[in-house]
Amino acid sequence: MSDSLGATLHLELVAAVIYAIRAHAVELSELDRAIGDGDHGDNMERGIEALAECSFEPDSSPGEQLLVIGRLIMDRVGGASGALYGACLMTMGRTLCADSSENASNWLVAFEAGIDRIGQLGGAKPGQKTMLDVMVPAARAWRAVTGRDSSQIIKHVSDAASTGLEATRSMRATKGRAAYFAERSIGHLDPGAKSSELVIVAVAEWLMTQALRERHLA
Ligand code: ADP
Ligand code: MG
Repeated sequence: MSDSLGATLHLELVAAVIYAIRAHAVELSELDRAIGDGDHGDNMERGIEALAECSFEPDSSPGEQLLVIGRLIMDRVGGASGALYGACLMTMGRTLCADSSENASNWLVAFEAGIDRIGQLGGAKPGQKTMLDVMVPAARAWRAVTGRDSSQIIKHVSDAASTGLEATRSMRATKGRAAYFAERSIGHLDPGAKSSELVIVAVAEWLMTQALRERHLA
């Protein structure tokens, strides 16, 4: 992954994330109806409404922009996912602000810090049927192939996210609302894992397009 994420969050990237969530909002709520309270699609839609309304200071860095987005999501989005995604993005923003050189490895360090923050706040670990079951394998996959060709990294991370999502189906939830369903949570995908996968795959697809564009225009 080159510096495609660039000096500012790319509007096309934001649009890709918005589109992915909007296209799957009904499915996210259906997943949450099976093992929760059925609001995950609505919560995520509120999140992307906030994202679409975000305005940034001119010349603000991606780190500063992520801080704005994270704060807005935390304020506007209900449910566990709003607090956790908001905190994750704010931590990512703070981490990126701490090191102003913008390269792919800083983004990975920021992603790892955001994931750690989710773990601290929610007390969950991988294997408990949450969004972490997608995010942690995606970050590990990225860490394992750093330095390789950008398209290989992107594919590896995106595949790890999708495999992580599928693995939540056979897990028994022990965190969040789904924990109340105990054994009955087995056999369903976790809604937060699905929204994480949607975002990661949308970002990966956008990065892949950018990498191809750069290659052909080079
Ligand atoms: P709520 O459960 O408050 O209704 P959402 O439905 O928006 O919030 O989000 C549910 C998702 O949040 C779950 O599918 C799970 O992935 C994630 N989640 C819930 N609790 C935790 C936790 N403690 N740690 C990590 N993720 C969690
Ligand atoms: Mg819910």
